[in-house]
Amino acid sequence: MSEYLAKDLLTLAPYVPGEQPKDGAFVKLNTNENPYFPSRYAVSLITDKAIDDLRLYSDPTCAALRGAIAAHYGVGEKNVAVGNGSDEILAFAFRAFAENGVCFPDVTYGFYKVFAALFGAAAEIVPLREDFTVDAAQYADKKKLVVIANPNAQTGIYLPLSAVETLAESNRGSVVLVDEAYVDFGGESAVKLIGKYDNLLIVQTFSKSRSLAGARVGFALADEKLIADLERVKYSFNPYNVNRLSAILAKAAMEDVSYFADSTEKIVRTRESFAAELKKLGFSAIPSSANFIMAKHEKIGGAALYEKLKTRGILVRHFGEERIRDYVRVSIGTPENMRVFCETAKEIIDGTKG
Ligand code: PMP
Repeated sequence: MSEYLAKDLLTLAPYVPGEQPKDGAFVKLNTNENPYFPSRYAVSLITDKAIDDLRLYSDPTCAALRGAIAAHYGVGEKNVAVGNGSDEILAFAFRAFAENGVCFPDVTYGFYKVFAALFGAAAEIVPLREDFTVDAAQYADKKKLVVIANPNAQTGIYLPLSAVETLAESNRGSVVLVDEAYVDFGGESAVKLIGKYDNLLIVQTFSKSRSLAGARVGFALADEKLIADLERVKYSFNPYNVNRLSAILAKAAMEDVSYFADSTEKIVRTRESFAAELKKLGFSAIPSSANFIMAKHEKIGGAALYEKLKTRGILVRHFGEERIRDYVRVSIGTPENMRVFCETAKEIIDGTKG
């Protein structure tokens, strides 16, 4: 830290991203990426002309991409904002709507508390129930930004749409942000409610179900006025926030519905058979509607399992927070990836004295 750093950042604990090893030597099941090649149709559009156009700034309105997203979800273009990954959209939302503070569950996406700290918003942490489900009644009339990941990050548990509606209904005075990064793997989006609730902000990403984590594109769906508020922040920060190539890729990926249906179906099928295998190996897992599973084994702690898997070439994620430190989070890869995981985990467990 230099002597020049702003004082209020001295105590900020930045987000720690999952490891991104450079050598490709690992079976990488740690950051919930998609194991499948992106839409071939999308990739075919990265032509010489598209590269030549890199001389020019990208379209700050991202009209073509927003149009494709709007058409896909049956909403107007003015109901859509796009960002450099959904992390950027989340940042805009915290800056725009957390003036009176923000609340979110104790076990959830770790970036929420970092954004709260960065933007000076007081964070209220609302514990999940014992079984890691969200109790929507605990979020009534908060008068501050309410943030729920659905399915929830780290647990994979999906909160039914009726409960999401309860959150929107019981917080008419503030914004309810539903982070649907994982919704395509087993939940129904709350987008159909945005016409009914002008305080509901849906955030999604191209990083998971559309295999474009490295392209960095996320988007928001909401009432026009909320979108205008997000744009106000965007135009005060980085108007050209989505680069030309990513905009082309994301638009086409949104249009390539058969690719999307095929790859998400494969991942869901793999998740279900992986869950069954984990059970056979004696793991207990949180039922997941996402592209990852949180699993623990009574013979070995989460940190030790993480380390042993890593030395055997498998990267998963371990979180030190008390409620989930017995678990490892395993992203759903190809069936072959999961077979290797199970074989290796079995070796580790068999070699561990219970
Ligand atoms: N929300 C949740 C719940 C996530 O797990 C992630 C991925 N780490 C993000 C948002 C951010 O995704 P991206 O910026 O790649 O769109």
